[in-house]
Amino acid sequence: MNSPENIRMHRETRMLELTWKDAAPTVLPFRTVRQNCPCAVCVDEFTGRRILDPDTVPEDLDLAEASLAGNYALRVRWSDNHDSGLFTWVHLRRIGEALNAAAETRTADAAEQD
Ligand SMILES: [Zn+2]
Repeated sequence: MNSPENIRMHRETRMLELTWKDAAPTVLPFRTVRQNCPCAVCVDEFTGRRILDPDTVPEDLDLAEASLAGNYALRVRWSDNHDSGLFTWVHLRRIGEALNAAAETRTADAAEQD
């Protein structure tokens, strides 16, 4: 997996944007990224089951600080002070793909209702 060419944090829209050499940009709301935090507090390490209730993540969650972990991941501290999540490029791209798939399903549903 290639590292992103660029990582932008859009504070005003609360979006994280990653641009890739080989794919369309991944644009993710901060809240969605936080809801998909892969750390041991949020996900059961053994079963892979999500412990975090996504609804408990504040709507207005901000990204307090982000730094690179080697060349494979982004370490993020959120405005709710949660900072144990390490978001690998693979994981962030998967979140983006899941989000796009969900958006396409919604569009298809809307079309059927017409
Ligand atoms: Zn976490």
